[in-house]
Amino acid sequence: MVKERYSKQREAIFNVVMSTDTHPTAEWVYETVREELSSISLGTVYRNLNYLVRKRKIRELNLADDVARYDGNKATHFHYICTECNTIYDMDYEAGDFIESVSERLPGFTVNSHKLELYGTCQQCETE
Ligand SMILES: [Zn+2]
Ligand SMILES: [Zn+2]
Repeated sequence: MVKERYSKQREAIFNVVMSTDTHPTAEWVYETVREELSSISLGTVYRNLNYLVRKRKIRELNLADDVARYDGNKATHFHYICTECNTIYDMDYEAGDFIESVSERLPGFTVNSHKLELYGTCQQCETE
């Protein structure tokens, strides 16, 4: 059944995104999911990633390099990014509290989304 095949693909794509904290690109997800489902197309991967983002199962990140990346970490969190190796790190910081306290300074304004990225050099690149 066609429908069954679709949900199997979607589940595989979802699991790949959830299995990593590297904030992968669609191409990376495609290469990884292909190990399991060899006949899957890149278009199918894109379609399902968009679907999962719409359903808020995963998050889409659009950072400075203009390549969409996907994040399975649904906790409210910020990112810091190494400009040497392009690694995107999750900030270990309760961002929800921060957003709330900032919102209090914006009377009459409802915050619906947020974006904070810090750029720098990571420890690994610093020591090379
Ligand atoms: Zn680095
Ligand atoms: Zn993240």
